Amino acid sequence: MSEPEAQADRWPAGNLWRPVPSFASPPPEAARQLADLWADLDRQLAQPQAACHACGECCDFPRRGHVLFATKLELDVCLSWARDQAVTPEPTARRRLAAGECPFLEGGRCGVRPARPVGCRIYFCRVSSTEQVENIASTAQQRLRSISMEHNGTDWYGPALAYLETNVSNFR
Ligand code: SF4
Ligand code: SF4
Repeated sequence: MSEPEAQADRWPAGNLWRPVPSFASPPPEAARQLADLWADLDRQLAQPQAACHACGECCDFPRRGHVLFATKLELDVCLSWARDQAVTPEPTARRRLAAGECPFLEGGRCGVRPARPVGCRIYFCRVSSTEQVENIASTAQQRLRSISMEHNGTDWYGPALAYLETNVSNFR
């Protein structure tokens, strides 16, 4: 079975996230704007109750029942970063994806932490939803969409694992 066929088995045809786009090296200007967005988010979330301590619990999708959503641009950046830093070889990525796990989770820690998607940064495991954090999350998502539209002409936003399964041959 080809990769797209195997992927189609897992994600029903006609759902909102199809077709899953192909990996493309992100334009440098887009990567820079994304880095600015992450830096602003880090500053806004520096308050103790919103900070992430990288325990890796929310990354354990099967145990948490969590689905990570991300944009194509973010996932292109994330995958490029992983390739540059020699994180997660393709066979390992395939094995983890088959188990429903994030392929970047290395020994309980994020292997792509500096480049992780916005959705990983606004999980807010230790703070109940407040207007302040909802505003921060919503503003970050709007900015992300605008950067994506400007640079790759798509605001594809869907399950990160669907994108990573479709593009698994682009792991190192
Ligand atoms: S956001 Fe996720 S990785 Fe960060 S502290 Fe919370 S559960 Fe752990
Ligand atoms: S990209 Fe990193 S932070 Fe996000 S789910 Fe995967 S391992 Fe966790």
